[in-house]
Amino acid sequence: MTQKNQCEKCKGLCCRYVALPIEKPKDKSDYDDIRWYLCHENITVFVEDGDWYINIKNKCRHLSPKDYRCLNYEKRPNICRKYRHSDCDFAEGEYDYELHFTDDRQMEEYIKIKFDNNVKEKTNPKAKKKKSIK
Ligand code: SF4
Ligand code: SF4
Repeated sequence: MTQKNQCEKCKGLCCRYVALPIEKPKDKSDYDDIRWYLCHENITVFVEDGDWYINIKNKCRHLSPKDYRCLNYEKRPNICRKYRHSDCDFAEGEYDYELHFTDDRQMEEYIKIKFDNNVKEKTNPKAKKKKSIK
């Protein structure tokens, strides 16, 4: 399927969040700070290829509510231009994140397991990539 065909069938999934890199947590206190992010609605945190990101679910103001096209296409930011359609949110398959936290309780449990058992995080360089600032 071409990107154009694919986008015509999609409701603009890649235009409904902002994913930003955050510092990789080192100690328990850093993990607890991330737990604070996760106390908030519409926030998730994921790990992609060893890098940590905060994901804010909030749609772009330029996404058309009628046909889900970009209303700012000529002036769309570079992140939108460079987003690889092979990695796109609509393409088949899961993101296969190394870690994905959707609320503070998950992080609370993870902190307990990680620090009680000295667990190390694994990386998966072949996983799909979220649209984000690197
Ligand atoms: S998620 Fe993929 S198919 Fe959907 S609008 Fe974005 S690039 Fe197109
Ligand atoms: S500027 Fe356009 S392509 Fe970029 S996120 Fe917004 S609607 Fe999507």
